[in-house]
Amino acid sequence: MRKIAILGSTGSIGTQALDLCRRHPDRFQVTALTARGSREKLFEQVREFRPEIAGLTEGFDPKEIPEDLKFCRFIAGREALHAAAAETDAEMVLVSIVGIAGLQGVMDALNAGKQVLLANKEALVTGGHLVTELARKAGKPLLPVDSEHSAIFQCLQAAGGNKPEKILLTASGGPFRTWEKARIEKATRAEALKHPNWNMGAKITVDSASMFNKGLEIMEARWLFDMTEDRIEVVVHPQSIVHSAIVFKDGAVLAQLGEPDMRVPIGYAMAFPERIETGVPAPDLFALGSLTFEKPDEEKFPALRMARECLRDGGAACTVFNGANEEAVAAFLREEISFGEIAVRVERALDKLAGLPADCIEDIWEADRRAREAARA
Ligand code: MG
Repeated sequence: MRKIAILGSTGSIGTQALDLCRRHPDRFQVTALTARGSREKLFEQVREFRPEIAGLTEGFDPKEIPEDLKFCRFIAGREALHAAAAETDAEMVLVSIVGIAGLQGVMDALNAGKQVLLANKEALVTGGHLVTELARKAGKPLLPVDSEHSAIFQCLQAAGGNKPEKILLTASGGPFRTWEKARIEKATRAEALKHPNWNMGAKITVDSASMFNKGLEIMEARWLFDMTEDRIEVVVHPQSIVHSAIVFKDGAVLAQLGEPDMRVPIGYAMAFPERIETGVPAPDLFALGSLTFEKPDEEKFPALRMARECLRDGGAACTVFNGANEEAVAAFLREEISFGEIAVRVERALDKLAGLPADCIEDIWEADRRAREAARA
């Protein structure tokens, strides 16, 4: 029996992880659950999975806790993340909250000696050097949940210690892959939220349309696999069946294939090194017929170029990239700015805030705050 704490249990990744717990009650026991604001959904989960700790980071009134859930310790506000990450006897913590709050959650879990299952990109994007160092010291390597990084991690398990020369990070290309640049810049909220293959939260779906998501994933891969950005190649693969690949010096390429369904990478991280039934069938290659690959267009999707520049610049550049994008995407989702304006605002923030340090977590919060301010201006 493995005990698991889930930060962000009511989101897309969290609910799918709980689906796997439900399928395998003999394998997984839930010790803590946290959500941001979805209290009814959280109450339902507490009723079903009976964790010791449940938290709502946006806070709640203790009077709202239903009588039948009084067995559980409810915690309000930001400290809920710390308590859920560190204060139960869970051996693993799934960090599936969105945003930079994930950085503190990951550090808390690692400091408490937990195995981190990482579905939050921002922890590595903003504090990759701090998090990987902490994980190395704790002897608890991060288990990636992001589908591409899970694919690379799975391929590495088959590599027998041989180091790859290169990573091929696949990207679906999103809903605007075949659109002209001028049309992309004027895309509406509804158009950006229509992902061709994956069913995900709103922020990451917009990031997939702009390819900021792939920019963030290059940063993630840089830290997870200790690879410089020039050895991480983005390959557009519209069918989303090849989830990424690694290239060896002998010319061999190892890839991981599967349906675009997050239950596969979530289940792999939860049961690692074993594999469990996830409810997802293997892809039907005969029905697919063909798989295609293209080079990404950095002219149409400037996020890729900017992400590489940030990695080369170092310091807090990646934090600024992330914070400014988060702020710009929120404005786009409120229909205050155009789709094309997202990249413009991020580039402006990067120009304005070049050279900020990221030596400690406080530096990172400060860079994040200034990036958001610059993106709002
Ligand atoms: Mg991904």
